[in-house]
Amino acid sequence: MEVLLLGTGSADGWPNPWCRCASCTWARDTGTLRSTTAALLDGVVLVDCGPDAPRQADRAGVSLADVTCLLLTHAHPDHLAPEALLARSWAGSRQTLRVLGPASAIEACRDWVGPHDPVRLEVVAPGDEVEVDGYLMRVLAAAHDVGRDELTRDAVLYDVTAPDGGRLLHATDTGPLGQQTMAAVAGAAYDVVLLEESFGSRSDHGTGHLDLVTFPRQLAALRECGAVVDRTDVVAVHLSHHNPPGDELARILEPWGARLVDDLTVLRTDAAVVRRAPARRQLVLGGARSGKSHEAERRLAARGSVRYVATGGERADDPEWRARVATHRARRPATWTSEETLDVVDVLRSASDGDAVLVDCVALWLAGQLDTARTWESEPGSAARAESLAAVGRASDDLVASVAATRAHVVLVSNEVGGGVVPEHESGRLYRDLLGVLNSRLAAVCDDVDLVVAGRVLRL
Ligand SMILES: [Zn+2]
Ligand SMILES: [Zn+2]
Repeated sequence: MEVLLLGTGSADGWPNPWCRCASCTWARDTGTLRSTTAALLDGVVLVDCGPDAPRQADRAGVSLADVTCLLLTHAHPDHLAPEALLARSWAGSRQTLRVLGPASAIEACRDWVGPHDPVRLEVVAPGDEVEVDGYLMRVLAAAHDVGRDELTRDAVLYDVTAPDGGRLLHATDTGPLGQQTMAAVAGAAYDVVLLEESFGSRSDHGTGHLDLVTFPRQLAALRECGAVVDRTDVVAVHLSHHNPPGDELARILEPWGARLVDDLTVLRTDAAVVRRAPARRQLVLGGARSGKSHEAERRLAARGSVRYVATGGERADDPEWRARVATHRARRPATWTSEETLDVVDVLRSASDGDAVLVDCVALWLAGQLDTARTWESEPGSAARAESLAAVGRASDDLVASVAATRAHVVLVSNEVGGGVVPEHESGRLYRDLLGVLNSRLAAVCDDVDLVVAGRVLRL
């Protein structure tokens, strides 16, 4: 099956023509224009028909004359501009067009179809299976309803199998999928999944849509149940200006096994998807509150289970620290396991292929090693100091070696502390120097090293 993406944008498109935010300005400057999401399958099945879809087909040099089936997800105006049916009648086609959709979408079409037009309006509901010209459409429940809007209540998604066996999941508009839909897609091993990611960095939208927090979790659930497999081409659609500029968004999606494509891209269900093998060792550096932990967590967000290793200790007597740990913990998916330990070496050595380990953070690990070796109890220059530093050196050697040798996918977080003023105390200077050296040694054995500054990520 050939999937022509007529549009990959949200209701307002990206850029939003009325907006001057950084994301919209970037989109305008680079000419990366996304119109309302719709897809044309083999030139025969059209999924959604918002205001931009027919003109986008023209731009792709494709006629809609052979479309015999229009699948409607819901009646929101970015998915259904029913005047297209009137325009079709002016072309004088005698071929019957079957229009499938939930009741509210079919209702919205009625006034645009004349009594003699060759159009069949058919109401469908989740659980229905309809065959049109050898294409099998399974109707799935969307989770687009947040109780505010009549038009979202009966919204659906489609699972389409083409005559050549190619299989597509068209999943927009929807929030996290409900149990009924997850059960229906289990084991489907789709060739192509178009999964919406409307809201980007905004997670407070309270709508039936996905964002950069819920999208990877949805993807993890789809992988877990066998709907998404290694060869599945997962493409993010229904994108809005709440997303970071395209290069940055592509970089966020990549470790999740999803990608961005431009409007009018053609996907083939039989194409082998070539992906860069994900980097297995990653070091994420940053200053205090730079967003480095958030970035590290995001790298692994599409993994079902992750071992989260906190090296900061429990600090039962420090309420500020406990509050901070609690916020971090609340942000992580329930399927992740956390452990408080300084024995990162053991965790990395005992990990097996395919495990994912997040270590937050190396700076606290080093502070813990210095405490364990009683470094601060000895005088600078004394034999005791030399001995304790030698012990810390051996622990650092072991850490670097275990990162180099681990079979797990490991993401290490560390502080970049070299940029500030020279610390006043000898202990501060020593710690800064040791951490700088350790970061460099870890960077040398990692596949990717990034610096996070003000929440923005710089690949080093
Ligand atoms: Zn929409
Ligand atoms: Zn909608």
